[in-house]
Amino acid sequence: MAKTSWLIEQLKASKDNPLNFTKGTTFGWDYSTHTVTYDPSRRKCDAYLLHEVGHAILGHQGYQTDTQLLEMERAAWDKARELADMYQIIIDDSDIEESLDTYRDWLHSRSLCPHCNSTGLQAASNHYRCAACQHEWRVNEARTCALRRYSTKKRSR
Ligand SMILES: [Zn+2]
Ligand SMILES: [Zn+2]
Repeated sequence: MAKTSWLIEQLKASKDNPLNFTKGTTFGWDYSTHTVTYDPSRRKCDAYLLHEVGHAILGHQGYQTDTQLLEMERAAWDKARELADMYQIIIDDSDIEESLDTYRDWLHSRSLCPHCNSTGLQAASNHYRCAACQHEWRVNEARTCALRRYSTKKRSR
């Protein structure tokens, strides 16, 4: 935990583009307020914190499609890895893969038609349509990063 405060001081001091940091019960990046939220009690907090800072540095605002979301997630981890080298923090590849898998699973599950269980087509960022039965459904928007799996209700099921 002491390490995390140190890291945040470093990040604040080194930015051309200043970020706000706030403690929370999840991890996230809010473009509109330029704020990174982090949960200091979480295992591997530093890695997830750097991931959010990665989103911040890359200026991520939102996404239109699932594919775009996955690309942004991967890009934020790539950036996190660069930062981790600078601050001598270790990010395990397995943690990155686990996080990306979480996204893939989550995206997959919400793309399944609640009516016939076929894989639907994404008609808009939070709107799917089933090619098999024409059923249409809405899904929650992905707002936060790593902890979504624990907090999102799968309304589409
Ligand atoms: Zn269907
Ligand atoms: Zn992310």
